[in-house]
Amino acid sequence: MATTPLLLPSIDLYGPGKRIGHLDLSWSDDRHAYGVIPVPIAVISGGSGPTALVTAGVHGDEYEGLVIARRLIRELDPGQMNGRLIVMPAANLPAVRARSRISPIDRQNMNRAFPGDDGLGPTALIAHFIEKRLIPEMDLVLDLHSGGTQSIYDPCGYVYEMGDAEFRARKLAACHAFGAPLTAAVATTSSSGSLSAACERARVTMIATELGGGAKLDLRALEIGWRGTLNLLRHSGVLQGIPEKTVTRLVRTPSRECFVMASIDGMFESYVSPGMIVEAGAHAGRIWPMDDLSREPVEAQFTVTGTVLCCRTMPMVTRGDTLCHVGTPLDDSEFVKEGA
Ligand SMILES: [Zn+2]
Repeated sequence: MATTPLLLPSIDLYGPGKRIGHLDLSWSDDRHAYGVIPVPIAVISGGSGPTALVTAGVHGDEYEGLVIARRLIRELDPGQMNGRLIVMPAANLPAVRARSRISPIDRQNMNRAFPGDDGLGPTALIAHFIEKRLIPEMDLVLDLHSGGTQSIYDPCGYVYEMGDAEFRARKLAACHAFGAPLTAAVATTSSSGSLSAACERARVTMIATELGGGAKLDLRALEIGWRGTLNLLRHSGVLQGIPEKTVTRLVRTPSRECFVMASIDGMFESYVSPGMIVEAGAHAGRIWPMDDLSREPVEAQFTVTGTVLCCRTMPMVTRGDTLCHVGTPLDDSEFVKEGA
């Protein structure tokens, strides 16, 4: 006997035109015995050209991407497209509804849930649909993240320094077309469960972003993200028009030394902000122990010279928390050649 899939698109994802709908995710819990989670999805298709997927809300407390994805659906029309654009503005809808990094239903981090599963819970179901159904059809994937509640980034792209030279060159060209002031190249995917890792497995050109954070909307990050998204869609041939010639500056975070971690529990007083250039040995801030007023604050130091990509926004810290994240310079030629 045939079983009904647990996740079904409410719209045709292929034909020309603009359609707005959702993925009907069948789910039964204490709220709904026979309910669905309507994960929003839209398609804007104008021709037989390349196909791109733009995702936001993989983490539910990262907001710039939600606005950019919603604007794409509202402002782009099939007449402007050479190809097909699929947009998922709240990919992990339960997390977005809860304003939370992870889903409150299954406690899963979607960026650790790929390749997913069609029976493990909502987060794994959505990840499974994206990896098995959508990614194999894509020429480009753009996954819009920000720093979330806990941290804030200097608006930047993120790309994985993996694969052969041809694949890397494609990814690098996409980074320049997005044109964020900085792009962080990461030597390995942080997890085989990330959306980036899913695209690496399929050799699909993919960049992610970190567009701000701190549980708010940053105007500069929004502007960089919006312009970058349109330019990248033009560069990839999905959207009509000649792309602007934009460039990004690559940095990398080659080791744990690029992270400044909290060495004690307490309140972190930061001396730096994202985008600042810092030197090895400089102080990143100090942590005030709050449970023993006789103890002196403990200084946190940078151990590499580079650009501050990200800072923690929540001052109360626990030993082991990341306080700052530094990127060191990387040449384009080095990025491409290492894949040979
Ligand atoms: Zn994220």
